[in-house]
Amino acid sequence: AKEISKVYSMGEVEVHALKKSSFDIREGEFVVILGPSGSGKSTLLNLLGGMDLPSHGEVLVKGEAITHFSDRELTGYRRNKVGFVFQFYNLMANLTARENVELATEIGDTSLDLDEVIEKVGLKDRSSHFPSQLSGGEQQRVAIARAVAKNPLLLLCDEPTGALDFETGVKILALLKEVNITYGKTVIIITHNMPVGAMGDRVIRMRSGEITDIECNANPVDPERIEW
Ligand code: ATP
Ligand code: MG
Repeated sequence: AKEISKVYSMGEVEVHALKKSSFDIREGEFVVILGPSGSGKSTLLNLLGGMDLPSHGEVLVKGEAITHFSDRELTGYRRNKVGFVFQFYNLMANLTARENVELATEIGDTSLDLDEVIEKVGLKDRSSHFPSQLSGGEQQRVAIARAVAKNPLLLLCDEPTGALDFETGVKILALLKEVNITYGKTVIIITHNMPVGAMGDRVIRMRSGEITDIECNANPVDPERIEW
């Protein structure tokens, strides 16, 4: 990211959600974004995922400025290069777990072996169940499988454990770390939970729309060993 900023204008009111921020993320890194509510974390993630465009500055992905893409190219980027995981899973209620994952692979250009991904997230026995028949943690596993199966370059997760109890949250973090390692995916996750920072290769701290600190961690901690 090169000096990116985001101003939301609503009539007379301007919200400076992100102020001139620059940083690098390397391919295959596990990045944790930390900061209080309203500090601009989701704004930043949306800019990286091409869901929104910055007011100023550039987002470069493998040297290409996505901020200069045409609408069509930007849509292609979102579909093929980015997997999103949200706090409230956003699954299709009328599709089974497997069908939810399948749908994503139909949208993307490339995809991984569906059964392998479903097994990897621990849903082999639940793949014919509908979201309403699954627990929150299981639904988040479906959402992760869906994001990963289309074989994206980036996995962007906005508070993926926000709606889960502590133990389930730790398991989901462990799964994301596993996805990061086995598939070599770059994972960027937003959380309110400070201790989660310990598992990041890189930790970006935000406050009031500014990046206050970027820390590189040579020895990231295994999610199950984080001291909460
Ligand atoms: P949280 O932890 O609560 O999710 P956050 O760090 O993700 O917070 P953002 O959602 O990025 O924060 O919001 C940063 C600021 O930008 C806030 O003041 C918010 O009200 C404002 N904001 C976010 N999205 C919009 C929008 N679409 N229109 C106007 N203002 C917005
Ligand atoms: Mg947010």
